[in-house]
Amino acid sequence: MRISVAIPVIVMSLAAAHCAGQEDYAEARRTMVREHLRARDISDPRVLEVMGRVPRHEFVPAILRSQAYADHALPIAESQTISQPYIVALMTQLAEIEEDHAVLEVGTGSGYQSAVLAEMVREVYTIEIIPELAESAQAKLAALGYENVYGKTGDGYLGWEENAPYDAILVTAAAPEVPPPLIAQLAPGGILVIPVGPQSQVQQLLRIEKAEDGTTTTKVIIPVVFVPLVRERR
Ligand code: SAH
Repeated sequence: MRISVAIPVIVMSLAAAHCAGQEDYAEARRTMVREHLRARDISDPRVLEVMGRVPRHEFVPAILRSQAYADHALPIAESQTISQPYIVALMTQLAEIEEDHAVLEVGTGSGYQSAVLAEMVREVYTIEIIPELAESAQAKLAALGYENVYGKTGDGYLGWEENAPYDAILVTAAAPEVPPPLIAQLAPGGILVIPVGPQSQVQQLLRIEKAEDGTTTTKVIIPVVFVPLVRERR
């Protein structure tokens, strides 16, 4: 998501980051789950449990750690963002994932959404178009002990055909239209969660379910603002 961070906020968070220990983060995570997820419409107990466990502060720049559990997106490297916790939880809940599922994520970014998914499913495949982000997210996920996340650098508009079909696909960058390859790579009964709309404006988060006969049903969920899904590195 596109946000601007005012300088005083960074100065404050620097001071707080020095004082905050693991315990403070655990408490901050509990508060996040209670106030920003449970109090809204996140009701899937598995999603709430995992959001209460994954260390989001490990996926944000060190200087912004004290804000890791606030309910907003934060900047990461390469002018990209880590999505707001509520949106990560909502997209995960909408995908109706099960333990034995294989899930594709488009837009690895920080690796946080990949970690949330990895805690809940058999295999996560994640594609990132910016090589530096793909590499740093893979290193982070490996350091945290995630062994069921497979990442690559590439254009996620095209999906990742070799490992298809996927029980769910989550796209964490806004596309001008629903990419046909992603529908094709969705298993029958699978769910695609994707923000669709113009760049740098409000988009609509869509939940698209593919029936056994291959037809799709689209539900508009909420207006959102994501960074754009780009087709080639700028
Ligand atoms: N899921 C991420 C959110 C990252 S923001 C997280 O939890 O942190 C969206 C990401 O999508 C950015 O890192 C951006 O570089 C990436 N992206 C944009 N277009 C893409 C494309 N065509 N294929 C793969 N990744 C893309």
